[in-house]
Amino acid sequence: MASSEVQSDTSAGVSEKERKVEELRRVAADCIACPLHEHRTNVVFGEGNPTTPLVIVGEGPGETEDATGRPFVGRAGQLLDECLRESGMTRKHVFITNVVRCRPTVLEAGRVKNRAPNAEEANTCIHLWLEPTLNAIQPLVILCLGAPAASAIIHKNFKMMQERGQFFPTKYARYAIAGLHPAYILRQQGEAYDAGRASLIQDIEAARKQVIVAKKEPPTTLF
Ligand code: URA
Repeated sequence: MASSEVQSDTSAGVSEKERKVEELRRVAADCIACPLHEHRTNVVFGEGNPTTPLVIVGEGPGETEDATGRPFVGRAGQLLDECLRESGMTRKHVFITNVVRCRPTVLEAGRVKNRAPNAEEANTCIHLWLEPTLNAIQPLVILCLGAPAASAIIHKNFKMMQERGQFFPTKYARYAIAGLHPAYILRQQGEAYDAGRASLIQDIEAARKQVIVAKKEPPTTLF
């Protein structure tokens, strides 16, 4: 069964990982390091299994995530859950987080809308919270959803259409791969939607299988 392949780390470091992630979550709840805090309802730190070998990184919270404090719980999250299930996994097998922890918004024609985080917001949140979270969890594989996550984790000028589905070495995990963001897939119609959904499932499955490969490889550090 696929789910058993993405087994948690059951070594002595487990409770230490949980402890570190919970401590980061506690401190992040009061973060005022960038202007995004001014309009947030909740800090969306991330959730799932802190002892997992597979971390998923999205872009940033939307309206439902801001309201609930949980990542990927709106329509994009429902699609992500479906694709995880079709790959034999649930949220319990992974840890899900984002490039930024507060919802980036813009006022357009009197309506509050989502927007992409700017470079300063992204860099601040990566430095303060994403990097320490990944350092605490020490995943073997990271799946980036969308170009902002891939640019943060894989390389700066990541080109989704040319580079998705490939594995790259990173300083945060032995392997990282990027796939289409579920919100982008939801904006497609007909065959384009079906193809986008299938490509996300393919990339999630590739990430799961790469965990198995990485587990068989010798450790990269001596200590
Ligand atoms: N989109 C994201 O990138 N992250 C979320 O948490 C929700 C939607």
